[in-house]
Order: sequence, then structure tokens, then C-alpha cells
Amino acid sequence: MGKALIIGAGGVASVCIHKCCQNPDVFEEICIASRTKSKCDALKAKLDGGKTKISTAQVNADNVDELIALINEFKPDVVINLALPYQDLTIMDACLATKVNYVDTANYEPLDTAKFEYKWQWAYRERFEKAGITALLGSGFDPGVTGVFSAYAMKHEFDEINYIDILDCNAGDHGYPFATNFNPEINIREVSAKGSYIEDGKWIETEPMEIKRVYNFPEIGEKDMYLLHHEELESLALNIKGIKRIRFFMTFGQSYLTHLKCLENVGMTSIEPIDFEGHKIVPLQFLKAVLPDPASLGPRTKGKTNIGCIFIGKKDGKDKTYYLYNVCDHEECYKEVGSQAVSYTTGVPAMIGAAMLLTGKWNKPGVHNIEEFDPDPFMEDLNKFGLPWKESYNPDLVE
Ligand code: NDP
Repeated sequence: MGKALIIGAGGVASVCIHKCCQNPDVFEEICIASRTKSKCDALKAKLDGGKTKISTAQVNADNVDELIALINEFKPDVVINLALPYQDLTIMDACLATKVNYVDTANYEPLDTAKFEYKWQWAYRERFEKAGITALLGSGFDPGVTGVFSAYAMKHEFDEINYIDILDCNAGDHGYPFATNFNPEINIREVSAKGSYIEDGKWIETEPMEIKRVYNFPEIGEKDMYLLHHEELESLALNIKGIKRIRFFMTFGQSYLTHLKCLENVGMTSIEPIDFEGHKIVPLQFLKAVLPDPASLGPRTKGKTNIGCIFIGKKDGKDKTYYLYNVCDHEECYKEVGSQAVSYTTGVPAMIGAAMLLTGKWNKPGVHNIEEFDPDPFMEDLNKFGLPWKESYNPDLVE
């Protein structure tokens, strides 16, 4: 049906590429392009021989001209951005210049401020609309499936949704004293930032990890979870009717938090450059270099993830509660595609989002968050491509 240019060859990209190859009627041809071409070639070598035709290229996604040249050469129908959030705007610029659809899994963030906001990408709305192309923002799990779950709940279960709690539990154990499950720089920037949630249309800020709850996760059991700021809160509060409060919680074990506190206390999580033996280095980037590569965690990680949303609202004048979630097993993911569940739960929806655009099931020129589209075909594909969802009408609630 079409051609996809995939930018990045890390943990998430690897899963997305496996899944594109499992869906060859939609992804007839893909090009894997990243900073380090050998990683693209290794993925091609692993997956070549199926129905999807694969090529590779080297690209610096910080450079708009290089991106434009690559797009003009490969002529994709969609660009799937699985590099880092810092590259979102350059890739969107190149898509605008060449009139190609765009998909990503994380919102733009400038290198020098850890601040997750959609304003930079939403500023492209009119230009994408005029060019007749679609930018689909946040097609991972959270953001991503959490937005699709919200749109599905709104469409089929509620007249209005007043409260959403997004719960992200990773009960996986990789056996290292400290490691992050996806890009360490992005992960640590996210968890060491202040927490926040939206109540009555206003952001309420908390100290990092200030709000803790214990939740009994289906198929996992009781875990400590902490309120974090998360980017989908901003778009869901605008796009879902009747929202009074929306929060995001993520589970962390005590050992992870103790290590993080210690690294923070000694200055290793700082993003301010320092002088070291005549060079400028960013402590957090140096820390990334000494931590285990998230891609290496796959064969070691055991246990499950459970990510989902609890909705409270009204249907036909009556109060109603509804919980939609997915449970994913690290070892099963590794067996299937050679990656652990955190990359898997992001890479599968990235493929599905791109498939929605390639098949024309979603077609809305402009810049849109995922919950603005019809959730039904996406929900069907989640069941088909390895992330089946479950529902409960009587879940435990978060205080
Ligand atoms: P990795 O660090 O494993 O991979 C990033 C890839 O991007 C690497 O191949 C890297 O190249 C490449 N890259 C980085 N900078 C450039 C550049 N300037 N030009 C070209 N390529 C570049 O990250 P992950 O796979 O873990 O994460 C990918 C994205 O997914 C991130 O944006 C992350 O925030 C997002 N994510 C979203 C989630 C969600 O649920 N929505 C959950 C988890 C992650 P090199 O190999 O040379 O370093």
C-alpha cells in the first residue's frame, strides 16, 4: 500500500520495524535511516527476505536539508520519527517542505530545558493543513494508546468523562542495580522533573515524586506509584469532553529511587554543561554513556507491564467507572522481536499509527494528537499486532 521512512534505529524503532514487516500489505517498502548506519544495516540483515522491501541510509536528523534530500530520494508516503524528541521540529520541517505525512511518539523538547509541551508542534497546524498533510503526534503507548483508549471510552462508554487516571506499571526486573528501560537521558529528565496534573482547567505542580499511591494492578499485584507530569495530560484535557481532573502515575521500585536520588545529589542528572579536562560535558549525557544500553536489557528482563486508564464519568445521567488496560510480558516480547516490553509497547503503536495514515483510515490534514481520530480501527489493530486490551467496569480506584 505504501512506503515508510523510519528515522532512528534504537529500541523503539527496532520493534516498529519488526511490526512493519509483519504487516507487508500496508508497508510494502521501508527505509531505515539513522545517525549510525550500521545499526540500520543490522536491522535490515535480521529482517530481509520477507515481503516488505528494506533499504537503509545514514542521516543526521538535526539537519533539515539532509532530511529533505533523503525524503526526495526515497519518496515515502509517511515519515515515522523514532529518533529523540529533540529532532521533532527538524523532521516536521522536512515533511512540510516535501509534503509527506509525519508520525512521532514523543513531543518536542529543547535540549537545554526539560519541558514537555505541545506548543512548538501545535504551532505547525496551519502550515500542515495548507500543505494537505497530516502530523500524528504521540503514537506510542503513553502518549499514544492512552489517547486512543480515552477516545474509545468517550465514543462507546460515556456521555462525559470527568476524571482520568493514567497508570503505567512496569513490574519487569532486569537484574541490574540501576538501568533505565528507554533512552536514559529522556527517562531521567522525565522522572527528575516536577510532577503536575490538571484540575479544573489549571495545572497543579508538585515536587518530584511528592505524591505516592499504592495500586493493586491486574495480573501484577500491589506496586508503589508516583504522580508525574506527562505530555498527554495537556492534549487530553483539551480534547476529551467534561474533564475535571487528569493525572498520570508511574511505578518505581525503592532501589531505582534510591539510586536516582544519589545520582541527583551528586549532580549527575544535571543538564547544565560543566567543564571537564578542557571539554564541556553534560553530566546527564555522560551518565547515559556509563549506564546499560536499554536495548541490552531485552534478554535479561522478566515480568510484566500493565498500562491503562481509569475513567470516571457519566452515561445516561448515571455515574460510571471504566478501566481499559494492556498487560505485556517482557519475555514474550523478547521471544517475538528481540526487545523488552517498554520498547514493544511503544513500537507497536508507532507502526499502527503510520498504518492508519497509509491506509487512509485516518486522514485529517493538520497537526493532531492521537485522540482526535476514530479509535476503532486502531483498537482492532492493537488486538491483531500484539497489544490486546482488557476492560473492567468495577476497578479499584486511585484515591
Ligand atoms: P534510543 O536511544 O534507543 O534510540 C534513538 C535512536 O535515534 C538511535 O538509533 C539514535 O542514533 C537515533 N538518533 C538520535 N539522534 C539522532 C539524530 N540527530 N539523527 C539521526 N538519528 C538520531 O531511544 P528509544 O528507541 O528508547 O526511544 C525512541 C523515542 O521513543 C524517543 O523519542 C522516546 O522519547 C520515545 N518513547 C516514547 C514512549 C511512549 O510511550 N510514547 C515510550 C518510550 C520511548 P544512534 O544509534 O546513533 O544513537
